[in-house]
Amino acid sequence: MADPGAMLEGDVLLGRHGGRVWFARAGKVTSGIPTPWRASHPDHWDLVAAAVALVHWHGTRPLCEACATPTVPEPGAARRRCPACGLLAFVRHDPAVIVAITDPDDRLLLGRQATWPQGRFSVIAGFVEPGESLEQAVWREVAEEVGVELDAVSYVSSQPWPVPRSLMLGFAASAPDDRLAVDGVEIVEARYWSREELQVAVARAELTLPGGVSIARHLIDSWAAGRLPRPGA
Ligand SMILES: [Zn+2]
Repeated sequence: MADPGAMLEGDVLLGRHGGRVWFARAGKVTSGIPTPWRASHPDHWDLVAAAVALVHWHGTRPLCEACATPTVPEPGAARRRCPACGLLAFVRHDPAVIVAITDPDDRLLLGRQATWPQGRFSVIAGFVEPGESLEQAVWREVAEEVGVELDAVSYVSSQPWPVPRSLMLGFAASAPDDRLAVDGVEIVEARYWSREELQVAVARAELTLPGGVSIARHLIDSWAAGRLPRPGA
C-alpha cells in the first residue's frame, strides 16, 4: 500500500521504496508469501518480507519481556513500547543456516524433508541453536541430518524469510567423500546429483526444486551455473 492518505489505525510504516512511501496492512497476508507477489514482484522481495514480518509481529501483540504488560506500537517505527515500564520491544529474528554441500566430484547434495511430498528436494537447512556460531550450526545440522563431517564451510549470502521471522544465512560446504547417513527423521532421502542428472530429473518432472525467490534456489542455481564457491578446494 503506497498512499499515506488511505492509512488506517494499525497500518505499519515500511519506509520509502521506489520513490513512494509504503505501508503494510494486516489481513492481506495471513500466512506465507502470497503467490502473485512471488511471481510478479521478485524485485520487491525486501518490501514484501518487511511487510509480512512486521504485520505478523504486531499482530501477536507481544507482552513486555520485563513486566508482561501488553506493549503498544510506537508510531511510524518497527518497535513497540511497554506503557508500564517503558521497555522497548523489537522484532525478533530466528537465524537459520542453509547449506549447499558438494562432494569431491562437484555434485550437489539434495535432501527431502519428512514433511515434503515425494520428489521434492532442497539443500540442507536448520535453525541456529543458543550458544552456536553460524558455522557450528552448519556443521551440527549436516552431521545430524545426513551424517556428513564437512571439510570446509564458507558464507555465501543471506535472505530474510518472514514466515514468520527467519533470517536465512546461506553457506557453501565441501564434503570429503560421497558417504551419507540420513537420519530418517528430519531428512528421509538424500543423494548427490551431477548437473546433468539434476537437469534431466527436473525436465522429466521427477524432481521439484524450491521456488525461484528462495535462497535455497539461489544456492542450487549458483551451483548449476558453476558460480558456487567451493570452500577448501
Ligand atoms: Zn514493561
